[in-house]
Amino acid sequence: MSELTRLTIAAARDALRAGEVTSAELTEACLTAIDGADALGAFVHKTPEIARERAAAADARIKAGDAPALCGIPVGIKDLFCTMGVPSQAASRILEGFTPEYESTVSQNLADAGAVMLGKLNMDEFAMGSSNETSVYGNAVNPWRAGNSEAALTPGGSSGGSASAVAADLCLAATGTDTGGSIRQPAAFTGITGIKPTYGRCSRWGIVAFASSLDQAGPMTKDVRDAAIMLQAMCGHDPKDSTSADLTVPDFEAALTGDIKGKTIGIPKEYRMEGMPAEIETLWADGTAMLKDAGARIVDISLPHTKYALPAYYVIAPAEASSNLARYDGVRYGRRAALSQGDGITEMYEKTRAEGFGSEVQRRVMIGTYVLSAGFYDAYYNRARKVRTLIKKDFEDVFAQGIDAILTPATPSAAFELGKEFDDPVQMYLNDVFTVTVNLAGLPGISVPAGLDKQGLPLGLQLIGRPWEEGDLLNTAYALERAAGFVGKPAQWW
Ligand code: GLN
Repeated sequence: MSELTRLTIAAARDALRAGEVTSAELTEACLTAIDGADALGAFVHKTPEIARERAAAADARIKAGDAPALCGIPVGIKDLFCTMGVPSQAASRILEGFTPEYESTVSQNLADAGAVMLGKLNMDEFAMGSSNETSVYGNAVNPWRAGNSEAALTPGGSSGGSASAVAADLCLAATGTDTGGSIRQPAAFTGITGIKPTYGRCSRWGIVAFASSLDQAGPMTKDVRDAAIMLQAMCGHDPKDSTSADLTVPDFEAALTGDIKGKTIGIPKEYRMEGMPAEIETLWADGTAMLKDAGARIVDISLPHTKYALPAYYVIAPAEASSNLARYDGVRYGRRAALSQGDGITEMYEKTRAEGFGSEVQRRVMIGTYVLSAGFYDAYYNRARKVRTLIKKDFEDVFAQGIDAILTPATPSAAFELGKEFDDPVQMYLNDVFTVTVNLAGLPGISVPAGLDKQGLPLGLQLIGRPWEEGDLLNTAYALERAAGFVGKPAQWW
């Protein structure tokens, strides 16, 4: 593997500006790495022509002295983002053959900043999953392995391809989306950094919708500085998304001083889960000590409604999904199934949706329609919305008490073997136990790699911040990253 693909965005930016490397060279190095890594199943549509064209344009721009931070930086784009003229399938069979005639705002923002798209990345179908196993393309694989075992591990989900590609140095960074943890959980499973910004910070326009009140895009990067740089380029107000916030975007990278003296960090007692591996407990305690040593005040806090978060999420997210996915009917959207003589419109819908959606998506659509149906709406959907309000209030209360950020584990375990949880949806859903609260409350959350378990697999810690204070959150994450000193890389076997 070329050393070039291992660069962070910040290092590559400086080298590009200094004329020590060209975007064309960086891009070729990534394209070669990608071609050698098919075993990881990370890239599902490669776009070398687009990459070379954008790299040449970036090199010209840099030469002319116009070099925004992402100019010439090769990145991967999750398949959930619509990219003009490039297949955008949300890893679903039902979107087979769909090539959008428009570009998502986030990927357009990245292109405007000069980023070079290398291709589209694997994910769970419609971003539903925690292991990247529901993808129509087949699963992505984690570049990390446990000890001497050759067993294939999940990179997490739903942004599993993004995580695998960044961890394996196939690209410098990637986009992800996070509805209940899909940026933070795969980042934790692969030893990289991932931030879900405040709901409304990034435009959702042109991103295939899963659960619209929870979905947010965010960067998946090699370190915290890169997360700051890339988030800056991705976000901003977009009149095409009515939930996008009309706020000026602060300079996130400038916020990275590493100074967290006087900050107050909350440790929520409800996140101490029964049956959590001792190593995660230890990591959490170590992270707490690191922040304390860096000058933060540590306070025990309570977020009493935490235990209702997963059940509420698994009512609200499927409800919104069932409504969003109604458009894939083989007429307005979606690949229509082959019909038999005498089939009417009902058979057309049934066959199209039965063939086009995988089993997890079908399960969500059925749960969603059930909880929204006339007889059950109040018992499930409305109750879940009330619980959501209480969860949000738990956070508002601790922020009102002066808490600046909250430290928790990112996941209840390290990466597990592919296939191990696939037939047990409840077990699979538990992966998000520490992350869904953040989506339900619309808050920013970041996962930072902080250590290895005894099998040598990466573990992440999560920091949750106040709404719209991503700069402050990134700075606390930066202090944690510096103290943790995580430098692990997977050994190359692919
Ligand atoms: N794993 C969660 C789910 O399956 C979250 C997915 C996501 O954040 N997109 O719904």
